Amino acid sequence: MSFRLYNTLTHGIEQFTPLDAAGRRVTFYSCGPTVYDFAHIGNFRSFLNADLLRKALELTGYEVVHVMNMTDVGHMTEPDAGVEAEDRMEVAGRRLLEAKKSGTLPADAGDIDPGDPWAIADYYCRAFLDDARRLGLTVAIEAAERPDLMPRPTRYIDEMIELVGTLIEKRSAYVAGDGAVYFDVRSFPDYGRLSGNSIDQLREAAGGRIDEAHQAVKKHPADFLLWKPDRQHTMRWPSPWGEGYPGWHLECSVMASSLLGRETGGVIDLHSGGEDNIFPHHECEIAQTCSASGEPLFARYWFHTRHLTVEGAKMSKSTGNFHTLADLMDRGASPAAIRLELTRTHYRSNANFTFQGLRDTQRLVDRWSRLDEALGAGCARSTGTAPLHAALGEFRTALSDDLNVAGAIGALSRAVGGYTIDNPAGEVPQNELDALRTMLKALGVLGLDRAAASGTLDETLIETRVSERAAARTARDWATSDRIRDELLLMGVAIKDGPDGTTWTRIAR
Ligand SMILES: [Zn+2]
Repeated sequence: MSFRLYNTLTHGIEQFTPLDAAGRRVTFYSCGPTVYDFAHIGNFRSFLNADLLRKALELTGYEVVHVMNMTDVGHMTEPDAGVEAEDRMEVAGRRLLEAKKSGTLPADAGDIDPGDPWAIADYYCRAFLDDARRLGLTVAIEAAERPDLMPRPTRYIDEMIELVGTLIEKRSAYVAGDGAVYFDVRSFPDYGRLSGNSIDQLREAAGGRIDEAHQAVKKHPADFLLWKPDRQHTMRWPSPWGEGYPGWHLECSVMASSLLGRETGGVIDLHSGGEDNIFPHHECEIAQTCSASGEPLFARYWFHTRHLTVEGAKMSKSTGNFHTLADLMDRGASPAAIRLELTRTHYRSNANFTFQGLRDTQRLVDRWSRLDEALGAGCARSTGTAPLHAALGEFRTALSDDLNVAGAIGALSRAVGGYTIDNPAGEVPQNELDALRTMLKALGVLGLDRAAASGTLDETLIETRVSERAAARTARDWATSDRIRDELLLMGVAIKDGPDGTTWTRIAR
């Protein structure tokens, strides 16, 4: 079993080896969504890459225990010029209240009390799990039976309070003049190692989750919040430092260590998140966990997915390019195509989502699905000997080389290209079918809804091809015209030329 992976902590590609003495079991913690809104495709790019890493490790022969949290508390917004940071659950409550007034509340959210952060979190948790399962996120599917695999921090408040107590005891944290508890970054010389910062460079507070008045009470501007006494806060709990709420970073330290690191002194193998989690979130997780455990490492490998832009632009609510899974499905894309489109670009490169790209990916997935069906029905014939089985080795090698997904897709596509469909049904080549399904499973598209809905995505593409063919015919370019006709046939579309132009119909499969 050989698996190479880039480690943000060491800034290089390393040979992956788990802590497990038998070398099989891998413990993996992923920072999940903050459930105060529907997840968008930028969020999903990170979650799906974590899932792809998991599946690639499983393909290599590892057994992965994967935990992904759903943040339902303590996650404050970034303070803006003059605007204080506030709890995301309160932001969500206000948004729901406005939607209620204007009558734009989603039908299934009708009975949520916008003043009840617990109900809001429950609602968005359910929505996230639905989306995640549609996209084949294994941990979300497993969580139906084992909810502890997708923990929520509001159920770990006692453990967080205990961790804060330990950090104070070990002199890694202190109660400041404002009554809040802060982590003392100067007590942890490694602070900044993950993000490539040094304590001296850190002029700004970690994440700026506290306002100016609170900055002044800290020993160092980078000291970050562990417990905030606040009797006005909607979600609050009793603690030795007064009624209040925990700092955001605590939850991941506590849940990762208690769910995955019990037998290893709190140390886990893998930890993932989006690029923007590196600092301050993951840096703070490391400082807290290692200070409490006394271990030199928290996670041994850190995996971060870079940003997603949409049609070349940064995603933002104002430009309306904050696409959700539901948006893309409404446009006719299948979950399998959406998943593949969001993971096709290597995780360490910024990715640009485009509708053209999604259409191309949909065609790729459609081709794989057709071969899957044809092989199962015994009506596919290959030019070479067992091309899919032969491709499996290259596919596996590519994925285990720091998730070279383009290489893996290339190997699969070349093998699929070696097949023709439509000959009379013969024997089912089980070996080939198994190889294809192994590869589709590793890419996460096996068992997902793979067919494009008969929505606009598909139809726009068909219409485009039909008019391109009409143009070719006008230009008497018969070769192009025939090529497009064949391409449409492959997509399951038959065309008919008549006196009033060309019409098309879907071929029942
Ligand atoms: Zn986290």
